[in-house]
Amino acid sequence: DNSPIRPAEDRPVPPMPSGLLLLDGRLVEALDPDRRIDSIDPATGRTIATIPACGKEDVDRAVQAAHRCFESREWQRMRPLDRGRLLERLALLVEAHREELAALESLDSGKLLAVTRAIDLQFTIDGLRYFAGWASKITGEYVAHSPLVPEDAIYRAYTERRPVGVVAGITPWNFPIGQAIQKIAPAIAFGCTVVLKPSEETSLTTLRLGELILEAGFPAGAVNIVTGYGAEAGAALVEHPLVRKIAFTGSTATGQRILAATTTTMKRVTLELGGKSPAIVLADADLDRAIPGAAAAIFSNTGQICTAGSRLLVEAPVYEDVMAGICDIAQSLRLGSPFDAATQMGPLISLRQRERVAGIVDRGLSEGATALAGGQAPGGDGWFYQPTVLGGVSRQMTPMREEIFGPVVCAMRVDDPSDLVALANDTPFGLAASIWTRNLDRAHLLADRIDAGTVWLNTHNVLDLTMPFGGNKLSGLGREFGSEAMHAFTEPKAVCMRL
Ligand code: NAD
Repeated sequence: DNSPIRPAEDRPVPPMPSGLLLLDGRLVEALDPDRRIDSIDPATGRTIATIPACGKEDVDRAVQAAHRCFESREWQRMRPLDRGRLLERLALLVEAHREELAALESLDSGKLLAVTRAIDLQFTIDGLRYFAGWASKITGEYVAHSPLVPEDAIYRAYTERRPVGVVAGITPWNFPIGQAIQKIAPAIAFGCTVVLKPSEETSLTTLRLGELILEAGFPAGAVNIVTGYGAEAGAALVEHPLVRKIAFTGSTATGQRILAATTTTMKRVTLELGGKSPAIVLADADLDRAIPGAAAAIFSNTGQICTAGSRLLVEAPVYEDVMAGICDIAQSLRLGSPFDAATQMGPLISLRQRERVAGIVDRGLSEGATALAGGQAPGGDGWFYQPTVLGGVSRQMTPMREEIFGPVVCAMRVDDPSDLVALANDTPFGLAASIWTRNLDRAHLLADRIDAGTVWLNTHNVLDLTMPFGGNKLSGLGREFGSEAMHAFTEPKAVCMRL
């Protein structure tokens, strides 16, 4: 079974960020420096630092600074290539501090060091470079001759894309530094200014990023960072009249609250929310790829990925083989310190999150599901939970319907292939799906009918910055990444002239 949890004596202590906020081009204390939030190492439950709990006035200072910068001649006249160069300089600094940032991220979030180093930090650096390139590629359209104008008139029209204005970026705790860059980099590339509020659970790398942004020489106010509770600092950002757009990633419940708060102001929003994504294994799949693939789809990052493959739908002829393989992997994954190279799965983010995961599993068991692997928290320090496979589930059971955000997969045997599409789409979410098969026809026909923002074929959880990312139904509104990011951070303007 899962190996015992090792004591956490092996953890390095990377240099801590100063704990100061990046506001208006300076590192400053919050107005009330005594109001702090504990940052807890989820692998040990120990407090490792405290961060400022910003109030409404701190948020106001940050938004005012972003607004002043946005309106300034310097920002409005800055050449797009020079905005791109700011992001490139930041990429170089992040690269130079990669080891330190990776260790800080692992300490604060419980993510495996091997993963933060190779994936999260790489994604952050790549994201900065990718969006740096976009800054100089913002284009409108030219309409030479409208077919609708009267015959005796000649009109010419063009469109431009104007930056939307001050952006509030609000991020969750599962990919802290990567998410911060997903908001900051496109905002700056497309000419906006930004105030970022990271999750109160994992603010350390974003605070450190603020120090690097200062070092990179961004104009004062272009990027500002405030930390604090969602209901306080987050809500103050959402309500601030000078914020023109909210770029949010987090839970569906918070996304709904934000959307409701913008009905009168009509602030622009992109909402990247939760999911309940199916991993679909067809009878002709290459099981040597599909089984580890489906296991990684749910157990990577301890299941704390919005696109996690949390519903495993398996065609009957291969069901027994797939279940044996998945349970085997679940039972052999080594839980432990994120800093131990032998560890394969880290802890959940918090005690509260572990209680939530355990609560949903217990509810499923009482509704009639069976734990084929895992199903409880192991003993010891830290907020660990066993990799869990639930069988005997039906469509209405709680773990099949709710986003669990933990290492728990619900497996279902599909006896009639004509049920697959309906089963895959039987969820209020629509973020992602994966299909495992060797049959190209079936792969594409199924991909067409799955109601999700991303469909992966023979892979899962691949985030590609060049592809639009976002969800249907309760998984969100709008798309980020790729060329869609330009639409998300700019407003089109039509200029029409009669000759
Ligand atoms: P959360 O909604 O609790 O918090 C996200 C952020 O919103 C935090 O910074 C929080 O402080 C802030 N917040 C909370 N209440 C707020 C309010 N009233 N006003 C403004 N801000 C507020 O989410 P979480 O638990 O940190 O993250 C997990 C969730 O994020 C999961 O549902 C997951 O699926 C989702 N997620 C989605 C994506 C995606 O791209 N679709 C990516 C990662 C995570």
